[in-house]
Formats: sequence, structure tokens, C-alpha cells
Amino acid sequence: MRRALVTGGTRGIGLAIVKKLVAEGYLVTATYSADEESAARAMECVPAAEFVRADVRDERAVEALFERFSSLDALVNNAGIDLYKQVQDTTAEDYARIMDTNMRGAFFCVKHAVKLMLDMGGAIVNIASVWGEHGGSCESVYSASKGAVIAFTKAVAKELAPAGICVNCVSPGVIDTKMNAHLSSEEKLALEGEIPLGRYGTPEEVASAVCFLLSARYITGQVLGVDGGFCL
Ligand code: NDP
Repeated sequence: MRRALVTGGTRGIGLAIVKKLVAEGYLVTATYSADEESAARAMECVPAAEFVRADVRDERAVEALFERFSSLDALVNNAGIDLYKQVQDTTAEDYARIMDTNMRGAFFCVKHAVKLMLDMGGAIVNIASVWGEHGGSCESVYSASKGAVIAFTKAVAKELAPAGICVNCVSPGVIDTKMNAHLSSEEKLALEGEIPLGRYGTPEEVASAVCFLLSARYITGQVLGVDGGFCL
């Protein structure tokens, strides 16, 4: 049975990816760092998947997580947090929290996954963001972290191609998850007005793009936008 690891798999986009991979026949392990309520709901909703508390910012926790695997076919670096603040108000702690989760966590997981994939090949998908390509006002550090994820993806795609490991990004636009729950209905309407397809994306639409890239054997180092035309 093919094995997959999805970081941040208890809610939103990650949970949709877990469901889709299970439906496609993968044995899935998913992680989270703190929210036990969402984890309990996810376990109830997808009993075939395994949910493990492991903070991707902590390399020891990531190492312990990878001890569960003797092989790995697919890694999805989805765990991520955002920050909506003007740059002059952003603290060093904010900066570290965002970078450590979004970039350092992806780096740790790739580093350990590659050791399991070197002999047999494999596929890695990192979840970036349209802001990582285009920059978001009041989301400077978040945008920088996702830009770093995109550069990291391209670099390791080149490095790992000879081993048959494909590494790509999915770059979502505005997706209807807890991450955007803080937006007021006026803000939501205004944002929808800027999206050519006229609505937020769904976690399932991002999950479909992730599964496509996990199955594509001649695509690597690419950034696939799932944004309803937001960036056109
Ligand atoms: P959610 O906040 O709904 O879910 C985030 C998931 O990541 C949760 O399972 C959370 O669990 C987990 N997580 C957070 N920090 C850590 C950590 N340190 N270690 C392990 N797991 C962690 O987010 P979304 O589903 O909206 O976002 C998923 C990804 O998509 C993120 O990378 C985000 O940046 C990206 N994205 C989202 C967009 C959107 O509009 N929603 C747009 C563009 C990109 P817990 O809280 O328990 O740690």
C-alpha cells in the first residue's frame, strides 16, 4: 500500500487532502500541533487515517514522526499559519513563528522524507500561496515565508530529480477555511469581487490539484495556482 504523510491534516485544506488520498488508496498519516478538538473530529471523520501530534517546527518531533515509516511515497507539506499585520507592527516573535512553521517545518519534513525516497523515488507537494508569488499587503512575513517555500521547492526539485523524486507547489488563492474565518462579511464580499471566478475556492479543489501533482511523474519544480484567476 502506498504511504503518504500530510502535515497539518486535521482541518481545512489538509483534511481535504487526507480524505482524497485515503479515497485513492493511500495509507495516510497526518499531523497537527495543538488543536485537539479538530484532531478528534478528523479522526472520527477519516478513521482510516492516522493522526499524530507533531509540531513541524521541532526537528526532534519530526524525527520521531519519521520513525513510524519504513517507506514513504508522498509527502504534502501543508501545515501553515498566517499573520495579518502591518510590517512596522510585526515582532521578531511573529517573524520566527511564521517562518518556523511555514518554511523550517517544510524543510525538516523534506529532509527526512528524502532519506526514505532516495531508493524508490517519490513525490512531494508543498502548499505555497498566491502571496508567495505576488506579495500580500499586511502579510509581508507570511508572503516571504511562502516565497521561500517556492524557491525551496524549485531548488530541491532540481537536486532530487536524478533520484526520481518530483517536488512541486500548489499555490492556493483564497480558500474557505478557518484561516479566513476572521474576515467580516464586507471584507469577504470585496475579496470575492476581485476573484475572476467570483468565489472562494474550496479545500477539495486544492486537494484535487495536490493529488494530480502527486501522480504526475514528468512534472517537477512547478507552481500550480488554484486561485480562481485571482492572479491573472
Ligand atoms: P487551517 O488553519 O485551517 O489548518 C492548518 C493546519 O495546520 C491545522 O491542521 C493545524 O493544526 C496545522 N498546523 C499549524 N501549525 C502547525 C505546526 N507547527 N505543526 C503541525 N501542524 C500545524 O489552514 P488552511 O487549511 O487554510 O491552510 C493550509 C495551508 O494552505 C497553509 O500552509 C496555508 O498557508 C495555505 N494556504 C491557505 C489559504 C487559504 O485561503 N486558506 C490560501 C493560500 C495558502 P494545529 O492548529 O493543531 O497545529
